Amino acid sequence: MRLILFGPPGVGKGTQAKLLAEEYGVAHISTGDMLRAAASSGSELGRKAKALMDAGQLVPDDVMVGIIREVLSSPRVAKGFILDGYPRTLPQAKALGAIFEELGIGDYKVIELQVAEEEIVRRITSRLTCEKDGRIYNLETDPVAMGGVCPDCGGKLVQRADDRESTVRERLRVYRQNTSPVISYFDERGVVYEVDGSLSIDIVNREIKLILSEGA
Ligand code: AMP
Repeated sequence: MRLILFGPPGVGKGTQAKLLAEEYGVAHISTGDMLRAAASSGSELGRKAKALMDAGQLVPDDVMVGIIREVLSSPRVAKGFILDGYPRTLPQAKALGAIFEELGIGDYKVIELQVAEEEIVRRITSRLTCEKDGRIYNLETDPVAMGGVCPDCGGKLVQRADDRESTVRERLRVYRQNTSPVISYFDERGVVYEVDGSLSIDIVNREIKLILSEGA
């Protein structure tokens, strides 16, 4: 399986990618998770990335392309992969196309998850993330609390620094300006499928699996 989950922040890419990666036994490649891991390791890249992430801005394309090239060339992706959060700009999409060509990857799908912006702001500002396994919970719908522990791994549940409302609005602006145009690059290649991300996690998961099974 080679899948790119596309859509604005808070649309459910991370949640769906985790489920699908477990179900299909493929690699979940979240560039946001990788940057957060770099940030908590305190490396120079991590420190630079954290300042940009906390401000809702994108990390430079050359850095992101380097990261993605390395992962896609590694044995981690031998059984397939789900990209979550990459590409976010047209140069990133074009670089991905070139990497796919080098690696002989011709067959992939892009699933675009769609949710209205106000719903996204509501979702993100009420979400908690496990510091340890990155799993996402919702203060409104899950029986968890800020500062509580992850039911799965016992890690602490916190609000991501970039999940505050003002930063979320900036991330959405950056999405509209830089990321949303990327869909036409994939549209031209006939690989885009749309899914209504406002439906329940289970239904979205089922819709995605249906698309993945088509023509497989
Ligand atoms: P995410 O967890 O996917 O919402 O990503 C969190 C933050 O990491 C983003 O707001 C960006 O600052 C940064 N980031 C993640 N992926 C990329 C990417 N492909 N290009 C540029 N910045 C990225």
